[in-house]
Amino acid sequence: MRITRRTLLMGAGAGAVSVLLASCTPDPEPTPTPTPTRDPQPQPGVPEPSARLRSSWTTDPFSYGAVSFTPVGVLAETRSLLARPVGDRVFFAGEATDADEPGTMRGAIRSGARAADEVEDVAASGERIAVIGAGLAGATVAARLVAADMQVTVFEARDRIGGRIHSVTDDAWPMPVQLGAWLFSAADDDLLRRMESWDIGVIDLTGTQWRGPEGDVEPVDAQPLEDAIAAAQAGPEDIAVTEALTSAGGDPDDPSTAALLAYLATATGADATDLSSWFPPALPPDPVAGEAVDETVDAADDDALQGARDDLTPLVEDALDGVKVSLSSPISRLAYDDTGVSVRLGTGEALSFDRVIVTVPLGVLQEQDLEFDPPLPFSNRNAIGALGMGRIETIWLQFDEAFWDADAAIWHAVGADVGIRTWINLRPATGENILVGIVGGAAAEEFAALDDTEALESAMESLAIYAS
Ligand SMILES: Cc1cc2nc3c(=O)[nH]c(=O)nc-3n(C[C@H](O)[C@H](O)[C@H](O)COP(=O)(O)OP(=O)(O)OC[C@H]3O[C@@H](n4cnc5c(N)ncnc54)[C@H](O)[C@@H]3O)c2cc1C
Repeated sequence: MRITRRTLLMGAGAGAVSVLLASCTPDPEPTPTPTPTRDPQPQPGVPEPSARLRSSWTTDPFSYGAVSFTPVGVLAETRSLLARPVGDRVFFAGEATDADEPGTMRGAIRSGARAADEVEDVAASGERIAVIGAGLAGATVAARLVAADMQVTVFEARDRIGGRIHSVTDDAWPMPVQLGAWLFSAADDDLLRRMESWDIGVIDLTGTQWRGPEGDVEPVDAQPLEDAIAAAQAGPEDIAVTEALTSAGGDPDDPSTAALLAYLATATGADATDLSSWFPPALPPDPVAGEAVDETVDAADDDALQGARDDLTPLVEDALDGVKVSLSSPISRLAYDDTGVSVRLGTGEALSFDRVIVTVPLGVLQEQDLEFDPPLPFSNRNAIGALGMGRIETIWLQFDEAFWDADAAIWHAVGADVGIRTWINLRPATGENILVGIVGGAAAEEFAALDDTEALESAMESLAIYAS
């Protein structure tokens, strides 16, 4: 069953209904881009798109960024300190709390399952449980605790579920626009199974193209980067990925290497100057460099890059089926003691529960938009401050006709001084003239600061090297 807004309201218990009525707030999440106030500067060979949509996670008050990352000098175990329950009353989930696969949908699901185990160890059936956040982690933990006969209420600040999964369906687009997560590797079998059960289509993103201002250049090999990181891991202290490269004789400013690092930033949200070599992020899945598009990706190639063709919301809806969900209900304060937890809404109303699971993004904890009384233990607070919140932004452009001849799915700009260095070409996989620009780290921060016309101009400038 799909959960519509109506069923969400009907599914809420008496207490939660009053929450729903009392806490309607404006929705500050990423919204469709309004029509620019002036026309963008034309670019030779690049027509103005017929539709465009961009994200704004950097400034989103319910995430303050895109994904968490492990900064240089910080131990991966820090995530376990962030996840450590407080007094068997306050529990934590969310991608940032997963030490193995942070910053991913898989990490969010794993964290929700881990938090459910922790709560089930100490809670009895019938207890009243609050879950803060209706993203993948919150939905996963809520589903598990409802199945264990607990009375669960999920409080979500936005007027929609899904959090950093945000599929926008709009008549102007032939397929949902994914403003948040939508890419994964063929190894994500649990995710793929869930998607299959909801008829969510998957597309293979096959082939890479590395292009400079003068035309195509040799594909960039990630092996030297991996070797440099491996060498740095034997060192006496953690160094940044860029430093690891330099120590191994590489040059982070070399145009090809810089293009690879820009791609890395689109997955981590951080620049290589900030990323730990001891706890490096997984390199983004490999779109099978150099293969022709009509060659199918080898099913055994676990690294092959794939994307969602359809709306991803059912992934979260499925888990929340039958759970009380209170939308537009930002929680501003949690008070806890040995006997229970009091959850205060933005409206000032407070509700009592036996336990609470906090799944809000790391950025929200860092901004202290959620107050804890008493303050969290030093270990949790230290972890919140030590981990990094990365920036990723995306822009989707649809064209009446393809102006490019490239048939690879992933495009990397090499040596071109452009705002967006990574593009996904959806034409080979879907037949639609859609290009998706992705930026991470400082480039994402710069992109987020542009107004809509400037952002479109930056995108069109970045695409000029692909105009045939
Ligand atoms: C642009 C972008 C691209 C990404 N691409 C990929 C990808 O391709 N593949 C991949 O695997 N992962 C990707 N990710 C990461 C993935 O989206 C996340 O790891 C995952 O969705 C996080 O789930 P979560 O439940 O931990 O957090 P969230 O989904 O953020 O859920 C937390 C919820 O808490 C709510 N909240 C915040 N503050 C409050 C409050 N005060 N009160 C109540 N509720 C509150 C939020 O609104 C949100 O709904 C991407 C993320 C972004 C932003």
